[in-house]
Amino acid sequence: MEEYAIAVIGGATAGAEAAGIFSERGILTAVFEQNARPYGKVEDGLPRWHVALRQKEYRAIDGKLTSEHVEFVPCTRIGDEVTFEELIGDWGFHAVVLANGAWRDRELPIEGADAYVGKGLVYQNPFIYWFNHYNEASYDGEQFEILDGSAVIGGGLASIDVVKVLQLELTVRALRERGIEQDLTEMEVAGIPKALEKHGVAWDDLGIGGCTLYYRRREEDMPLVELPEDANDKVRERIAKSRARVLEKAVSKYLFRVCPLHAPKELIVEGDRLVGIRFARTEMMDGKLRTTDQVEDVRAPQFISSIGSIPAPLPGVAMRGELYAWDDWDLGRMRDYPTLFGVGNVVTGKGNIVASRKHAKSVANYMTESYIHTAEQVKRLEPLSQEAATRLRQRVRDRQKAVGYESTSYAGWIDAHTPPDRV
Ligand SMILES: Cc1cc2nc3c(=O)[nH]c(=O)nc-3n(C[C@H](O)[C@H](O)[C@H](O)COP(=O)(O)OP(=O)(O)OC[C@H]3O[C@@H](n4cnc5c(N)ncnc54)[C@H](O)[C@@H]3O)c2cc1C
Repeated sequence: MEEYAIAVIGGATAGAEAAGIFSERGILTAVFEQNARPYGKVEDGLPRWHVALRQKEYRAIDGKLTSEHVEFVPCTRIGDEVTFEELIGDWGFHAVVLANGAWRDRELPIEGADAYVGKGLVYQNPFIYWFNHYNEASYDGEQFEILDGSAVIGGGLASIDVVKVLQLELTVRALRERGIEQDLTEMEVAGIPKALEKHGVAWDDLGIGGCTLYYRRREEDMPLVELPEDANDKVRERIAKSRARVLEKAVSKYLFRVCPLHAPKELIVEGDRLVGIRFARTEMMDGKLRTTDQVEDVRAPQFISSIGSIPAPLPGVAMRGELYAWDDWDLGRMRDYPTLFGVGNVVTGKGNIVASRKHAKSVANYMTESYIHTAEQVKRLEPLSQEAATRLRQRVRDRQKAVGYESTSYAGWIDAHTPPDRV
């Protein structure tokens, strides 16, 4: 019988990794996932052209969630179907692990901008979700448009993906209008110029104006290659060059424009629509970004804001600014909740699968090696009594039953709710 029990909120890369480690130690682990499928940003963030990576990560998550002692509880949003306070206070878990990622877009920093969402302003997370799913027969979610001349505001890897989606979709559409069918994923691999060459078509003949990425710093500052915290001047220079090279390669393959040193400043509104943004020109002076008096008005059919993802508020979990109020950022801990831990993107803020997995591994190892046995460095946690274990299992089963999930058939459930590209 399992002596300890842990609840994990979020079943994707970080949550599944932690669950796998708990399972190896014989800990009853209930993984609560808001969606039917547990794949998180691997399915809904990482663009669908990453075919092989997505397959590999689906399999990795499936493997961990089918481990012994792990109970998957789909379609259960903590903070909604089950409250956070209930889970941490009443259910009887020895610990709760937040592995719920970063699903909220950081707000475009112009007052009142959010009033124009859907009226000229789009945010990255729902846009990429749509891109990954819109061609599924069952998709009935929010719809977005691919508009020539769209402006993307951002600078990180995800914003490059957003502008790539626009350019690739525009090209596929223009070719289709000429009777040429071109697979988008193949074109992502080859790049637009090579794909067009194959069809004997010139980019200039397609009549596409193209989309632009606006970035508030210089091109070499774009965080496209990670800068180590202890980097000296030589390393900084090398990384700046690699960043510029990555950007150059993306521009040459996907033919978008980049406008660096532009910081969004004011909205330009006509009627009830956002039709433009006034950008302040910026400059780098002694390594610091400075806003100048110069401005530039940019009009575009839509603006897509891709300036970072932050955790969605979870009622009961304190926030400091736009992030959860962690007291210990290494282990994702809060003084007010000594049994709470955080793993993956929800703590690291890094939009990266490897970083999420690595962080989850280190926190879960700490939990199994130190926390359980010397809880709060005072005494070992009391193991579950037989009665408490039965009660807890029953509660998990009841929830699984309520959503139609049979605890013995993860594979059957996933097959019935499978993403179209999972093989
Ligand atoms: C456009 C884009 C491109 C990317 N490209 C790359 C790339 O090339 N390489 C790379 O390594 N990474 C990339 N990433 C980032 C990477 O996909 C994520 O950083 C990583 O998958 C995060 O894993 P996670 O487990 O920490 O969080 P998530 O995958 O976000 O998992 C969180 C899980 O928690 C669930 N959840 C949330 N709230 C609740 C709740 N209240 N109750 C229950 N469940 C909840 C969610 O449904 C989700 O399944 C990209 C991301 C985006 C958006």
